Amino acid sequence: MKTPIVCPKCHGPLLSTEVQLRTGASIWKKTCANKIDHVFTCLTKIGDDDTVDLIGIMINRDVQLRANWDFTRRQIKVHKGKPDLKLNGLDIPWFEPDLDQYDKLVDKIKKYVIFS
Ligand SMILES: [Zn+2]
Repeated sequence: MKTPIVCPKCHGPLLSTEVQLRTGASIWKKTCANKIDHVFTCLTKIGDDDTVDLIGIMINRDVQLRANWDFTRRQIKVHKGKPDLKLNGLDIPWFEPDLDQYDKLVDKIKKYVIFS
């Protein structure tokens, strides 16, 4: 899947920062994090927008509920920011995120969380 160029929610530009991995390699982290109602993050190889490594979206800001698509492992993990909460690292079945339907995507994740 291609790395998004703009935020799929607000269509604003994504801020790129270089992040060093534990392996020593560097990757780009592209984020839209300054909006009140959403946070969007993706990780991609530097200079290679054709392959996205990870996409992360905030599902519910009040409880810091986030969903991450790991494209290398083809895993979707939903977790809450605070470690004391029960829902830590819930796996849900893999599907490709449809970023054109951002709000539907958020609703879909919420349903998985409710029914699990
Ligand atoms: Zn945005």
